[in-house]
Amino acid sequence: QTMALNLKDYVASYPDFPEPGVFFRDISPLLENGEAYKQATNEIVDYAKKIGAEVIVGPEARGFIVGCPVAYELGIGFAPARKKGKLPGKTVKETYGLEYGQSALYLHEDAIKQGQKVLVTDDLLATGGTLAATIKLIEDLGGVVVGTAFLVELTKLHGRDKLKGYDILSLMKY
Ligand code: IMP
Repeated sequence: QTMALNLKDYVASYPDFPEPGVFFRDISPLLENGEAYKQATNEIVDYAKKIGAEVIVGPEARGFIVGCPVAYELGIGFAPARKKGKLPGKTVKETYGLEYGQSALYLHEDAIKQGQKVLVTDDLLATGGTLAATIKLIEDLGGVVVGTAFLVELTKLHGRDKLKGYDILSLMKY
């Protein structure tokens, strides 16, 4: 029997990155450690089973890293929410504000079926802008967001307030 790891031991912190005043939490050490990445993934797999997720959507790029191994393990699909100019087919678009800067996300129109139960994944919940935009794209296509999962939640930025009414799993809180 193996002991559970303390996942916070695998998060690095960088003051003033990518710009002054931002305290950046970096999950690279977690990804680089096979046991830690597997433990985090397994926790999200259990959650995805519990909420009955039928497909996973994650925003570019770290939402892919968190969501894809979960989709693989469950044998369900993964649809990437991508930045401008990346998706070749017909898309829906959502513009949003970030903790730093502005951006837009796109989802292929046929990525989600009407009424499909969707789990949304990302590495980190900050202000919630990215997730709120991703949720909007899914709902525009008739998907039902049954849960959201993050490795890290920065509670002081109140991302939860933008996700009112949605279930949230965050593996680590700062
Ligand atoms: P939000 O839209 O403000 O919630 O920001 C979340 C998005 O920005 C996620 O896709 C994160 O990958 C990224 N992000 C914001 N702050 C951090 C941070 O401190 N560390 C790593 N990623 C961050």
